[in-house]
Amino acid sequence: MESAGIRPDTEIAIIGAGLSGLGMGIALDRAGLTDFLILERAGDIGGTWRDNTYPGVGVDVPAQAYQFSYAPNPDWSRVFVPGAEVKAYVDRLADRYRMRPRVRLDSEVTERVWDQDARLWRLRVGEGEVTARFVISAIGAFVDPKPVDIPGVDDFTGMLLRSAGWDHGYDLAGKRVAVIGTGASAVQIVPEIAPLVRRLDVYQRTPIWVGPKPDAPMPRPLRAVFRRAPRTQEAVRRLATWGVEKILVDAVVGYQRAPRLVDGAAGLMRTAWYRLQVRDPAVRRALTPGYGLGCKRPSVSNGYLRAFNRPNVSLITDGIDRITPTGIRTAAGREREVDAIVLATGFRLASEPGNYRRTPVRGRDGFDLADFYTRDRLASYEGVSIPGLPNHFIMFGPYGWVGGTWHQLVETASAHIVRVITEARRRGASVVEVRPEPTARWTEEMRRRLSRSLWASETCATASSYYFDHHGDTPYLRPTSSAQAYRASRTFPLDDYAYTPEKEPSAQDGR
Ligand SMILES: Cc1cc2nc3c(=O)[nH]c(=O)nc-3n(C[C@H](O)[C@H](O)[C@H](O)COP(=O)(O)OP(=O)(O)OC[C@H]3O[C@@H](n4cnc5c(N)ncnc54)[C@H](O)[C@@H]3O)c2cc1C
Repeated sequence: MESAGIRPDTEIAIIGAGLSGLGMGIALDRAGLTDFLILERAGDIGGTWRDNTYPGVGVDVPAQAYQFSYAPNPDWSRVFVPGAEVKAYVDRLADRYRMRPRVRLDSEVTERVWDQDARLWRLRVGEGEVTARFVISAIGAFVDPKPVDIPGVDDFTGMLLRSAGWDHGYDLAGKRVAVIGTGASAVQIVPEIAPLVRRLDVYQRTPIWVGPKPDAPMPRPLRAVFRRAPRTQEAVRRLATWGVEKILVDAVVGYQRAPRLVDGAAGLMRTAWYRLQVRDPAVRRALTPGYGLGCKRPSVSNGYLRAFNRPNVSLITDGIDRITPTGIRTAAGREREVDAIVLATGFRLASEPGNYRRTPVRGRDGFDLADFYTRDRLASYEGVSIPGLPNHFIMFGPYGWVGGTWHQLVETASAHIVRVITEARRRGASVVEVRPEPTARWTEEMRRRLSRSLWASETCATASSYYFDHHGDTPYLRPTSSAQAYRASRTFPLDDYAYTPEKEPSAQDGR
């Protein structure tokens, strides 16, 4: 048997160099936990904002809310900024906090295996192996584009464009184009390309709620104030973050306390905003969701709904039968020829077992993350830990989405993880694992709160939303305020974890 004192290649391995992985690295560095490595499968950092460069890509929350509390950017150009500005922010963040030397690019982790005897993780990276005492998964919420299961997709002889990994070498001007999908990416793509193309067919399965986007350039004098008086910007950041949380979280979690508020907003959208935006009543009806506002993540745009007033844009709601070599045939038997198809069909979420069949995560005593996610209802402790995975943390685990924007989640999860690793060090422990009882208790409380949410109401029955998993649960959002989550990350009982001292046999040894 290997000794418990075997020295791993790195103390901590972070998987993924998007906002989560970099934010986690910065938090470790600040806590003096400096022996870490960030493994990134792609050739650059930035995750979402590296991969999504499609026309019109940008944030759908105000940029002032979409930044770390400790790294405000006074120079956001608009209220809602394009993706390239976020990518530049990520790049500057990595430079400013000296994260680049920590990142190993082109290093996909294809397997994580807990070695109980050596008390470390063995990560398969390409043909080699990296060993780490602790592993932090920062692979994001949207891990890969969903595989396209429409028959005939491989036979199409025209251009296939994907929202993630857009081919900018292809000129859409004057082409006949189909967009499949009407989620958040399509909402950004459609108004951007509609004026360029000869004909645009938008294939919709489930309509999306699209509200007005209160966008405007950030006035230069205001940016100067932000630079000279950072507290002003901090106040704006807090206000923007609070507003996003009210809309995206509180309205959902508190729905049954005040259903009329959310239903009233949906009514207003239906009777005022949609009417103003879409001229043809039949098209308007087809674009209007039948499910409640908030059942599926809503989007904002001042151009998406209006694009359907254009003579060259058609909304197609018949189901797709198949893609043919030259176009798309619907269930009604009608084929429309196109030169290019844009696939905006969504992503595989981090909680889907398929991710961990492809890149397995094997913990203690045969625990397999893919099996766990398939078989059992999703559970976690504070959105970051799962029993069976010692020395392993997930930035966005079950019930882990904190607040309205990603940065709150990253700052909360990283504070929790730093606290556990620091405590393990203090106790001289080489193995730390969350206990099953607090996990069950915490998850039960999250489910109880969600049982009174909008998602538990009838109004979400037809939403076909990624908020619902294959068990019918909604393990996406943490149904507490971000302030509560942040407090919890600093005050949760440290004994909710079991610590095994370096020299003693692991608590799990010999089971
Ligand atoms: C188009 C778009 C717009 C969005 N807009 C918003 C918004 O306005 N507001 C908001 O809050 N959120 C938004 N999001 C969600 C967004 O994904 C998060 O805000 C955030 O960027 C996620 O950061 P991340 O680092 O957790 O994940 P990602 O950005 O997905 O980064 C994960 C990284 O891990 C790497 N990786 C994955 N698997 C492995 C592996 N096995 N080995 C090594 N590396 C691996 C990936 O290559 C990637 O670089 C948007 C998402 C998309 C797709």
